[in-house]
Amino acid sequence: MSILDEDGQGVRVTTIQTTVRRRPDEVLGIEGGASRRGSTYWRRAIECPREHLLANELGWEPAALGDPLTFGLIWHYCLEAYYRVIQEHQNVFPAFESTKDYFWGANEEAEIAAYQALVPFAGEPGYEKCFEKISQMLDVYFERYRREDKWQIVGVEVELASEMRHGFEYTTRLDLMVVDHASEPALKIIEHKSSYRLDRNVLEGYTQDFQTIGQVWLVEAELDLEKYPPFVGSVINIVSKESTPKCARSYCQPSKYVLASWQRSMQALSVQADYFEALDYPQNFASCSRKFGRCQFFELCRTFPDLGVGDLKGMGDPILGLRRKGAA
Ligand code: SF4
Repeated sequence: MSILDEDGQGVRVTTIQTTVRRRPDEVLGIEGGASRRGSTYWRRAIECPREHLLANELGWEPAALGDPLTFGLIWHYCLEAYYRVIQEHQNVFPAFESTKDYFWGANEEAEIAAYQALVPFAGEPGYEKCFEKISQMLDVYFERYRREDKWQIVGVEVELASEMRHGFEYTTRLDLMVVDHASEPALKIIEHKSSYRLDRNVLEGYTQDFQTIGQVWLVEAELDLEKYPPFVGSVINIVSKESTPKCARSYCQPSKYVLASWQRSMQALSVQADYFEALDYPQNFASCSRKFGRCQFFELCRTFPDLGVGDLKGMGDPILGLRRKGAA
C-alpha cells in the first residue's frame, strides 16, 4: 500500500514480517485477547493516548505475538485445562465424603488434560522452545503442588464486570476462584503467572499491582460475598521459566484504603481518557520503550510520526505487521 507524503509522493510501505510463527490463539482455534475493559485496556490508556486509539478503539494488534504474551497465553490454557478437570470431578463427587479424594482424586486425569492442551504446539513451527519449556514447567508445577492444595473450585475463567456505577467500567476474567480449606475456609482468587525469574521485584511487585488490586476490588464490588466464606484476596501463582523452573506464590490482600485509592485513580483515568479524542489522541513518547520491550506500535509511530487520527481511522487495513483484532 502507499501513503502520500508532504509532497504528494507515494511512500511505499511493506509489511514487516516479524516472525513466521502463527499466533497461539490461531494454533488453538480460540479467541485470544484480554478482558474487554480489563487491566490491559486501561494500561494502554495510561501508557499513551495514541495506543488507546489504535488498540482499544480501532482494534489494531500485532499480527504476530511476542514471546512473553505467547508464553503466558499457552501457560494459562494448560492450567485452565488442569483445573477444569478438577472442578468437574468435584462437581460429581459427594462433597467432603472423603477429603483426600475430593481434592486430589482427579489429579492424574487433570495432569493429562494439561499436557494434552499443549499438544497442538508439538509440531507447530516456531514453538519448539516454548513447547519444551512449558512441558518442563508443568512437570515442576505438578511435582510441587500435586497433593498439597485443598482447593474447592468455585469457578475457572470467571468473568466479572462492573458497569459505570462507580464512574468507570471495569471487567476481568479470573483464572480461578477457590475456597481454600487449608485451614479455616476462605474464598480466594488465583492468578496464574509465568516469569523469567523469581526475585524480590517479581514477588513483591504483585502485592501492589494494578491488575491484582483491580481484581480484588471487582470481587468486593460485584460479587455477593454473603454466599461464601470470608474473602481474603488474591494468590499470584507463579512459575518461572528459568533453566530449572521454580514455583512461588505471592499474596495480594489490599486494605480498604488501597481499594478506595484504586477506585479513585480509575475514576480520574476514565475522565482523562474521555479527553483524548478532543486532543487528537496525542502520542506519548515517554512510553515507546518500556521495561519489557517496546510498545506494540513502535514501528508505526517511528515510521509515520505525523499520521493523523483521520488517516488512521480511514485506513482500510493496518500496516507494518499489524492487523485488525480477530482478523486471520
Ligand atoms: S509507539 Fe509511543 S507514541 Fe506510538 S502508540 Fe506506542 S507509546 Fe504511543
